[in-house]
Amino acid sequence: MKILVIGLDGATPELLFGDERLDNFRRLMEAGCYGHLETVIPPHRIPAWMCMATGQDPGSLGTWGLDKPTNNPHNNLELISSKPIWEPSIWSQIAREGKRTCLIGVPLWYPPQERKGVWVSCPLPHKEIYTYPTSVNKQIRKLIGSYPMDVKHPRFYKKNQLQEEIYTMSRKHFQVVRYFLQNTDWDYFQLVEIGPDRLQHGFWRFHDPQPPLHEPGNPYQEVIRDYYLYLDHELAAILDILSEDTLILVISCYGVQRLEGGFCLNEWLVREGLLVLNEYPQEITSFNQLSVNWEKTLVWGEGGYSAGLFFNVKGREPRGTLSEVNYEKFRDEIGKKLKAISNDQGKSLEAVVLKPEEIYTKVRPGVPDLLVQFGDFSWRVVDSVGHQTLYLQGNDPYLDDCNHGQFGSFILVAPDNPLQGEIEKVRLLDIAPTLLELGGYSVPSSMQGKSLRADKVSNVTTDEGFSAEEEEIIRERLSGLGYIG
Ligand SMILES: [Zn+2]
Repeated sequence: MKILVIGLDGATPELLFGDERLDNFRRLMEAGCYGHLETVIPPHRIPAWMCMATGQDPGSLGTWGLDKPTNNPHNNLELISSKPIWEPSIWSQIAREGKRTCLIGVPLWYPPQERKGVWVSCPLPHKEIYTYPTSVNKQIRKLIGSYPMDVKHPRFYKKNQLQEEIYTMSRKHFQVVRYFLQNTDWDYFQLVEIGPDRLQHGFWRFHDPQPPLHEPGNPYQEVIRDYYLYLDHELAAILDILSEDTLILVISCYGVQRLEGGFCLNEWLVREGLLVLNEYPQEITSFNQLSVNWEKTLVWGEGGYSAGLFFNVKGREPRGTLSEVNYEKFRDEIGKKLKAISNDQGKSLEAVVLKPEEIYTKVRPGVPDLLVQFGDFSWRVVDSVGHQTLYLQGNDPYLDDCNHGQFGSFILVAPDNPLQGEIEKVRLLDIAPTLLELGGYSVPSSMQGKSLRADKVSNVTTDEGFSAEEEEIIRERLSGLGYIG
């Protein structure tokens, strides 16, 4: 059986499942199963897509974000790449069993390992396309001209321009996808389209009536819903060229939600005397550009949709200050301080503070000492310094329109998948074992999730297969998709 994974970055369950006009997504939902997909912490595209592929949590992968803050004096940020991650993934397992994979825009599989198949890199870490084999680059140029990896300046474009750029990018991406679906030999094909994420970051406040900045009747109110409708048409074009024995997974590793404002974590650490600067910057400065007094610094933070705090531990960090003996007590104290933080109105920011070992199976180096999220992900965490305030309002140029949320979406359809309807409590880490099992591959023991099939239908399936009645139901659902004539 072939496996096609259609990754839609940030596709939010309420929009994907709640719009009756999305005929093709609904055809898939009716033919298979679907639901909210609980993501990992942090809900960032890196590491989420890597966790999806390996079935392992960020702590076990030691990959917490794109940049790994360090207090190396020469390079405060180490760029993460897939190189140190030798964990078995869905496609390494499929390749091991002699099959061909095609990956287009999957974060952060860079540099691509040499395997049978085609790889087109994701927008990070490089701005330029990187392909394997290199001849693929020529094929793409011939097909669409230049390949837009991402929209270049999403925060600075005028809204009409941003919308146009995203459509141009997505149309080209899907053209490339259709080309390789039709013109290469593949057993596993995965694409990740970044367009939904970029569009929602640019237009959420126009769509969602909740944010204070929303203006009813504004000209961009339907931009997001219209884009989902556009995605539905792209899905139709893909379904038209698939063979009947294809397993289809539509997936987003996280969703998005409204953004209340930004909390400046490193500003707060500076005020608390935990992060000590040689000099407070005159202008807004990213963490890696700050002049940090490491001899006096105890903690620094990395922001995003949720945040990580790193402790300057003696013996672990090059210029550590915190004795290991005091580590646990100190960690609890910082946790209490974080929980006591309020917003600019004096209301609690509802910090949820987690120790990595509480939520990860393993904690590899590079993982923060504490993880924190504010206001159920409605507050972004900002790690630059120089804002002269702890709070950024919703219209601050350092913010955009939405934050990532804890739940992405999935729709799964396969010729022999007995799972139907809405399924609850599905985790991102369950996806890799599910795909491998349904595809007839072995599931590596490193994968921490459980196959949905094994977990959810142990009392439905039997050694003999499906009952006649079950087969009839599945047959009926699949015939609507053109799987069975
Ligand atoms: Zn995003």
